[in-house]
Amino acid sequence: MRSIDVVVTFPKDCAVKLRARVAAMVAFCASIPAIASSSTNWANVEPQALIAVDDDVTRNISTQGFFDGIRISEYRFSENGYDWHLLRFSRIDDAEGPNWVVPHDDENAAFDAMIAAIKQYGGVGIAVNSGTGSARRQSGWGLCGVRVAPVDSCDPNRNFDARAPLFTQAFVAQFQAGLPVVALHTNGHGFSGDGQGGRGDVTILDREAYGRGQIKARRYGRLAVNAPPELDNADTLALAAFLVKNGGPSENDNTCGLAMSQAGIHFWHEPVGVSDGSLSNYLAINQPDTAYMNAESRTEIDLAVAASRHAFMIATYLNECRTSGNQPAPKP
Ligand SMILES: [Zn+2]
Repeated sequence: MRSIDVVVTFPKDCAVKLRARVAAMVAFCASIPAIASSSTNWANVEPQALIAVDDDVTRNISTQGFFDGIRISEYRFSENGYDWHLLRFSRIDDAEGPNWVVPHDDENAAFDAMIAAIKQYGGVGIAVNSGTGSARRQSGWGLCGVRVAPVDSCDPNRNFDARAPLFTQAFVAQFQAGLPVVALHTNGHGFSGDGQGGRGDVTILDREAYGRGQIKARRYGRLAVNAPPELDNADTLALAAFLVKNGGPSENDNTCGLAMSQAGIHFWHEPVGVSDGSLSNYLAINQPDTAYMNAESRTEIDLAVAASRHAFMIATYLNECRTSGNQPAPKP
């Protein structure tokens, strides 16, 4: 990039108009790199080249056929004081399918579930790679998503915001219109406040009721009906966001949540007022017509156990919520 200094004298109101034009041109030019880089900066990479780079690839590469039929590309960029490395996965036959996201690198079962889902359903998946250490947050120094002060680590799932356009668009620009976004997470056992050292981020339970010894769904939550034993824990749940200003979940979301809970999955309609920088909040506010489901599976030592819950939640969602109409209208 080159800058040019020019000094010219104009009549005053002409100079004011010119300054406004230049400001508009600068703003226009500034908007171009964010859009261009999200669509063109992905570079193909072989899994072998990622062995010393990403623990998810290292963990799986010796499993026979794990990456067979999968194309990988990567995108590195820096923004707001953080260096990001995203990995994009799709089938070699480019089969269309849902848009998959794994924002937390320490949630290994979610990564494994995503690759299995791409093989089964197609679509594009994006995972954050924090490095070989499989960290939850990216180290750096700067503004992270909606935070107002600089911090020394950034939770990727708090960085979806207009103030992080490169990061946000790297994901959003890959989303195929008319197909749902499915975010995959794992969730710690219990929740802070359960009095038993729980560390999970999210639960289907009402915490106050739990404190009184009652098991009750949190507000806007639906307890699973006859949950199969492998899903019957309060840390495994599916969720979709809705805007508080709309007064409640849409009819389609309600139908979807009801169908999911009746299929044995805890389901929470997450109310969103002001964004917390998560993908669910970002999409609810900025792309409310995009169908979204977040599958949280309780963390397990055996990754396959946790990933099998993701697989069940995905299959149920694609089955039940497609017929319920919880899909944006296909684009012509
Ligand atoms: Zn997560």
